[in-house]
Amino acid sequence: MSGDGREDGATVVRAVAAVADRLEDERAYLTELDSAIGDADHGGNMARGWAAAAEAARELDDPDPQTVCKTVGKTLMAEVGGASGPLFGGSLVFASAELDDGLTPESAVAFAETYLEKVEDRGDARVGDQTMVDALTPAVHTFKKSIETDGLPPLEALAKAVDAAERGVAFTVPIRARKGRASYLGWRSVGHQDPGATSTLFILEELLATAADALGAEIPDVDATSPTIPDDGEEATDASAPDPEDD
Ligand code: ADP
Ligand code: MG
Repeated sequence: MSGDGREDGATVVRAVAAVADRLEDERAYLTELDSAIGDADHGGNMARGWAAAAEAARELDDPDPQTVCKTVGKTLMAEVGGASGPLFGGSLVFASAELDDGLTPESAVAFAETYLEKVEDRGDARVGDQTMVDALTPAVHTFKKSIETDGLPPLEALAKAVDAAERGVAFTVPIRARKGRASYLGWRSVGHQDPGATSTLFILEELLATAADALGAEIPDVDATSPTIPDDGEEATDASAPDPEDD
């Protein structure tokens, strides 16, 4: 978010390369998760798809962030079959429309919201269905609130979003799958961590690491839960908060 489209484009290309490396490192782990409740191909799907996406992004000539996102999305759609290719790839292509005017805190929020909406529409999944939506939803909501309501710097907002996604991944474990292959297991899906939510977290972690690196900053040590619940037994009150009835 330097305000320079080419510079930001180059940062996004680096982020895609970092995601590809990470997903290659996590290939066996993601496959293990998918072998418990799916068909053991998620590690391969992600590693293969993002390697091709990183290659395609690297070949672009001085691209802006929108062009990189669109290229990555199209490559994922072409390379990854099954449920996750169209979900990750198609949603990325669609959300890239929000980056018409480059990468700003506002356009990043719009991008994140559109991406989540598209994943929900395409997969017909909502929070609690034990899918990638369970990691994405808290991440996107936390990011939006951190930028628009709390006025946090983008890096801090992204760090909070990653923490929220981590909580979302943990949430997939004790719930029953309602969508995707894992849903065929019925109650036997309970107790397992969703592979797509997990890869979504890894992607967000790499976006954060790349953003921190680009800004020459440390990754902020933040917590998605805010304000924290007071531990002195008193109820949290905020006299300046708007009346919910007014909404
Ligand atoms: P496949 O399920 O076709 O083998 P993958 O193994 O690559 O594809 O991806 C599985 C992941 O895709 C799941 O862990 C889940 O997060 C996600 N997923 C599957 N179906 C849906 C859906 N309908 N909506 C949202 N996410 C889904
Ligand atoms: Mg699978």
